[in-house]
Amino acid sequence: MSQHILTAVAWPYANGPRHIGHVSGFGVPSDVFSRYQRMAGNKVLMVSGTDEHGTPIQVQADKEGVSARELADRYNRVIAEDLTGLGLSYDLFTRTTTKNHYAVTQQIFKGLYDNGYIFPKTTMGAISPSTGRTLPDRYIEGTCPICGYDGARGDQCDNCGNQLDPIQLVNPKSRINGETPVFVETEHFMLDLPAFADVLGSYLQSKQGEWRPNVLKFALNLLGDLQPRAISRDLDWGVPIPLDGWRDQSNKRLYVWFDAVIGYLSASIEWARRSGDPDAWRQWWQNPDARGYYFMGKDNIVFHAEIWPAMLFGYSGIGARDGSPGSLGALNVPSEVVSSEFLTMEGKKFSSSRQVVIYVRDFLARYDADALRYYIAVAGPENQDTDFTWQEFVNRNNGELVAAWGNLVNRSISMAAKNFGAVPEAGDLTDADRALLERSRGAFAPVGAELNRSRFKNAITEAFDVVREANKYLAEQEPWKLKDDPERQKSILHVALQVVDDAKTMLTPFLPGSSNKVHAMLGGEGVWSGMPEMREVDEDGGTPYPVITGDYDGAARWEHQPIKPGTPLAPPVPLFKKLDPKVVDEELSRLGQ
Ligand SMILES: [Zn+2]
Repeated sequence: MSQHILTAVAWPYANGPRHIGHVSGFGVPSDVFSRYQRMAGNKVLMVSGTDEHGTPIQVQADKEGVSARELADRYNRVIAEDLTGLGLSYDLFTRTTTKNHYAVTQQIFKGLYDNGYIFPKTTMGAISPSTGRTLPDRYIEGTCPICGYDGARGDQCDNCGNQLDPIQLVNPKSRINGETPVFVETEHFMLDLPAFADVLGSYLQSKQGEWRPNVLKFALNLLGDLQPRAISRDLDWGVPIPLDGWRDQSNKRLYVWFDAVIGYLSASIEWARRSGDPDAWRQWWQNPDARGYYFMGKDNIVFHAEIWPAMLFGYSGIGARDGSPGSLGALNVPSEVVSSEFLTMEGKKFSSSRQVVIYVRDFLARYDADALRYYIAVAGPENQDTDFTWQEFVNRNNGELVAAWGNLVNRSISMAAKNFGAVPEAGDLTDADRALLERSRGAFAPVGAELNRSRFKNAITEAFDVVREANKYLAEQEPWKLKDDPERQKSILHVALQVVDDAKTMLTPFLPGSSNKVHAMLGGEGVWSGMPEMREVDEDGGTPYPVITGDYDGAARWEHQPIKPGTPLAPPVPLFKKLDPKVVDEELSRLGQ
């Protein structure tokens, strides 16, 4: 049965280019999942965009002497180009500085406010004593009052994951100049998270056995200390507060995390408008049978497993104060929060300032997108923190993509093309022929089940086992020695090509670019698996901006399809680049090691 599946992908922050650690957490996993779901016949809506508000963008813009908007414009484009280059099949990748996003954010705020889940409160805000300016939360550092970690920031402790207010920090210091901030009274709006303690508790308990255990455990731990959270800031860069007396205050804006999570909904609404059916988004957000999967790195679990569900419940009139749904109607909460752990680089934390980094763009200039996608799927931080090393990247590229999969494709297709020019007919099958065909055909169900549960490492390992068994079969059958027995040679090559076709299908979610090539080599017509493209769009004739979108209704289906004897074959081109072992040293020297 076809299901509506929302793939909600974390919003990359537009204060600089993204590195491979970022895309291993949110980008590649969400695309593998979406491509599989489309192949399985489901209706996927994959949305995201650049997160462009907040103090880090303002601070970076000040440093560069440009406006926050100019900085966001620049990195919105850079990031959209990089994600397109990786082949990520967004139905819409947009940005948070659109009029549509402002309007939807304000609607959600209003709905929560009208139901009593948002209230004003006078709090203490940090001021720099030397400049008199508001000191942004993230630029205050101190000791976490909850876990004692001494590198906690004013908005969050990275050690225990709790949301913080700067005034809670022990020994607060400005990260800009080291001075001790002073705290003055300022009025802000609070999201009443304790009013959702019961609904969040039963919501999370119902996910036992379904979510990755580390994600659920983390989310359940957060429930122990739910406090009202400030959702506005003293800042002029962000979404205005949609209430009389607040709307026109140039120094009060909604806090960036509040508007960023609403992006999933606003992007869905923008996609629907652009598709010509403005209500189409409702199928993914209001249909009770629809499923919503949220992909991110683990530093974002708190926003997706606690705050965003609370906002959706409250907007829908569910919580300790009840209420009624806002103007958009009741909205679905996430079905699953799929969080990855962290990727490190050669044993160190990624750091742009210390040049422990490789940006997506630089990676794609030197290596294939599928080579990175493969590495992330098979060796990425799915369940634990994982180290990226250039040596392992080269080993896996050369040993697995080139020597196992590329070689199987190349030798089966080239031998069949050279000897017969087309897919050969199979004669009587031997036990070995039948065993391999059954093994390959039988892999669709288990590989698909792993993909459906976002267990990507298991899925690609199982698919590669089929590739390895096919190579073993060819080594045993030795069709190249059967010049005097063309009938047997035909049968072997027919079996090999059938397994190549099956493996190509199973590897499509991971390796869409090379699977499209295999599809063409096997004489397939039309688009197999659609690729994303960038388009320039605007709102009501306003300033154009780039989005990622695409037509992903290719021929790819998650099923064994019998190959047709007589289909013409062309001599194959190499699928993957074999890498010179020297690149390890070259890359390490770029890292300054
Ligand atoms: Zn802490």
